[in-house]
Amino acid sequence: MVEGSQKKNLINKKGLRVDGRKPDELRSTKFEIGLLEKAMGSAYVEQGKNKIIAAVYGPRETHPRHLALQDRALLRCRYHMAPFSVEERKRPAPSRREIELSKVIGEALEPAVFVDLYPRASIDVFIEVLQSDGGSRCASISVASLALADAGIPLRDLVASCAAGKVDGEIVLDLNDDEDKLGEADLPVALMPQSESITLLQMDGNFSQKEFESAFNLALKGCGQIYDLQKQALKEKYSIKKEVLEDLEGEKEE
Ligand code: ADP
Repeated sequence: MVEGSQKKNLINKKGLRVDGRKPDELRSTKFEIGLLEKAMGSAYVEQGKNKIIAAVYGPRETHPRHLALQDRALLRCRYHMAPFSVEERKRPAPSRREIELSKVIGEALEPAVFVDLYPRASIDVFIEVLQSDGGSRCASISVASLALADAGIPLRDLVASCAAGKVDGEIVLDLNDDEDKLGEADLPVALMPQSESITLLQMDGNFSQKEFESAFNLALKGCGQIYDLQKQALKEKYSIKKEVLEDLEGEKEE
């Protein structure tokens, strides 16, 4: 974040952003479910130039055993950026930022999981950022939530996540890398839409109270759009195709 609110020309005279989006427009986002054969559940997202894959293993026996929790499953999350995911090669070892994001993402996902159904077990969520373009924690939460659903783990709801922020003094949705670095503020939010529960709320930079309220409401709107896309991806993967239904009907009649 750049200190102060000096103009950086991140919004042009027509009111469009560096990538041509309107202030309240989400980046082009596409989810895909179940692309890894060996993981129990998996999902992939492209959100703008972000490319992120999530894989889930579990519930399974916890190793090392002393980490097992007697009353619920241990949800472990690892967020990792591939060395080639950013312009300059990133060191493959986990950075402080990745350790922090792993914790934050795990805490944003856990309220959605019925962890008390699996005492002493562990559920492992691995997130690999193949290409990073700002807002990767939000995209990671959304895609990991789909991977948990794909693994058949009982969930209260999906977790949909999106950030809003302030760029050139304007409140905008879903910041890309340039806006994240050169903008004035960023507000990542994660939501369980059914119960309207917030599972993540972070703030980087400064907002006035009024700006905070409009950024928060815009981020919630973004979460709603992400939720629709998540549900659509689940339906594409799991709804019974029309032709299969017709075949089944045919078999019944015979
Ligand atoms: P988020 O990805 O959730 O917005 P940050 O605000 O910490 O998380 O990071 C913003 C962006 O900065 C990332 O999405 C990524 O594009 C970029 N970034 C993070 N770490 C590095 C790094 N080691 N080298 C280059 N760019 C990085």
